[in-house]
Amino acid sequence: MRFRTITVSMKFQVCTCWDDGVLNDERLAGLFRKYGAKATFNLNPGLMSDVRGTSYWIKPGDTNWSCRGYRTGKLALRDIPEVYAGFELASHCWKHENAGSIPDDQWLKSAMDARKYLEDAVQKPCTGFAWPCGVFTPGTVEALRGAGFTWGRTTQNADDVLAENPEPLTLKSSCHFQARDFWSKYMAARERGGVFYFWGHSYEMFDCEQFWDQTEGALRYIAEDPDAEWINVADLAARLGK
Ligand SMILES: [Zn+2]
Repeated sequence: MRFRTITVSMKFQVCTCWDDGVLNDERLAGLFRKYGAKATFNLNPGLMSDVRGTSYWIKPGDTNWSCRGYRTGKLALRDIPEVYAGFELASHCWKHENAGSIPDDQWLKSAMDARKYLEDAVQKPCTGFAWPCGVFTPGTVEALRGAGFTWGRTTQNADDVLAENPEPLTLKSSCHFQARDFWSKYMAARERGGVFYFWGHSYEMFDCEQFWDQTEGALRYIAEDPDAEWINVADLAARLGK
């Protein structure tokens, strides 16, 4: 009797997610499509409206929140299906409420309201979550679990996301997309056949071509890496659960 040899090749896997549902996501989603990347966008529909916002550099005396002086506009609610077509969506609370800042039952309602809105908008399950400002508490972790959420990303980092994430609801990523150790962590994950998971906010690239070129260069590199394959964050969470 002859046995056929079956070679199982497990590729190095890459996933990414992006927070807050801002105007710059449209350009970023275009780049992800161009390079065949998978991505998850974590949105707070309660901070979006029927009108597209505008982005601008704040003037002296402007006390509105900004990222290093860049005040980002939000996408309109009606933009959601088209801008994010083909990508995964996840809850980032209704109005970006931090865990522990309001009673847990109200907080869970906020997390669920965002999820329900997104599920209605794109007609598919959105059981992922990104912790606003990375904040979580034991009570809110259990609340998410009880409501059927499957993963929740924090702002903490792991050297090895497969080994250091026993709890998918408080997921550590590899790093932020602008981290100095982005490529060393990428190479280390690649070397071990693991998972590299990066995240960010598209507004952190402002309208600065240098930053956008840097991100496009990374996506091009990953697309051309024969050992890399894109997965969704949900796929990582499913892998951790086994
Ligand atoms: Zn956020």
